[in-house]
Amino acid sequence: MNEKTLLLKGATVIDPANGLNSVKDVLVKNGVIEAVTENLEPQEGWEVEDLTGKYLSPGWIDLHAHVSADFLPLGVEPDRDAGVNHGVTTVFDAGTAGAINMKGMKRYVIDTSTTRVLSFMNAAISMGSALKGAYRDLRNMDLNVSMKAVEAFREVIAGIKVMASVTQVGDNGIEPVKIAKKLARLAGLPLMVHVGNAPPIYEDVLKLMDEGDIITHAFHGKAGGILDRHGRILPEALAARGRGVWFDVGHGEASFCYKTFKRAMEAGFGPDSISTDLHSGNIKGCVVDMPTTMSKFLELGFSLSDVIDLSTNRPAKMLGLPLGTLTPGRTADLTAFVVANEEAVLYDSEKAPMKVSRLIKPVMTIKGGKKAWAL
Ligand SMILES: [Zn+2]
Repeated sequence: MNEKTLLLKGATVIDPANGLNSVKDVLVKNGVIEAVTENLEPQEGWEVEDLTGKYLSPGWIDLHAHVSADFLPLGVEPDRDAGVNHGVTTVFDAGTAGAINMKGMKRYVIDTSTTRVLSFMNAAISMGSALKGAYRDLRNMDLNVSMKAVEAFREVIAGIKVMASVTQVGDNGIEPVKIAKKLARLAGLPLMVHVGNAPPIYEDVLKLMDEGDIITHAFHGKAGGILDRHGRILPEALAARGRGVWFDVGHGEASFCYKTFKRAMEAGFGPDSISTDLHSGNIKGCVVDMPTTMSKFLELGFSLSDVIDLSTNRPAKMLGLPLGTLTPGRTADLTAFVVANEEAVLYDSEKAPMKVSRLIKPVMTIKGGKKAWAL
């Protein structure tokens, strides 16, 4: 058997799921983590990467981006713009494609990318997020058409996506979320809901969410957000978290507000995952990429280990994926990076500046045991 062995030497390994944050060597055999231990001596035939002075973590996971490339409007390039070239080994396309576009999404995007791309299929059958007002006409939410796509492409569909904001639902209020929830139930998949400008109101969305469902743009700064008039966390959000509903960042150009986030943190309500909502309309704006988004959380008071946890282990756990850790036997997705002591000003979606003094910068991405990108 032609075994390929890669030894990653000398990095500070951060693997929150296994409580690791120290210098270790990582051995990768045939695309799988073989061992994480100290002072492994290279053997003949092994490929060796010296990562002394660098950090090494499970491959980063971006739970919310739009990576349909030029196949559908809104998309950025999965590898070049969002994925392996930015330290991200798995990216979730959050609803750019609906049922009608799933075949093309698989053929032209998922099957041709080095980055692992999984889809939250839009509950709007035609065009998904790329169609403004996707749920204004409920005929665009055909359960039969959606279920056929779920059955045909289940291996790449991680969940169902719906956008609960007035620009998308028009006069239909909460109805599109209800239909999407029905679809998610039929499909046996989690539902990811984008919350934004009401109606429907955040409280009504939360009431429909079950264990395993995901709120994205959880900490947006628009009216009717996660805080009530008195600056307290909505009781419905606390109840939802109690039921096992997840709260994702989904930064985007309009959906992450430092002020709201800081208040939520003061109330003890942090995020379950960090994600970008990167798309062609915001890639030149405040989001930039996953490491830039992660860097903001260092300044917002999170330890490096927690930032890695929220960008690897936690999103993988949310979806029950065997990724996001360096446990032996797992797929060898890894990101090597540095934390540069650099001053920068990073903006939220409300154009509020934040001075940061540390920037997370990837230097190498390994996907399935193979070097997928290096600086
Ligand atoms: Zn989005």
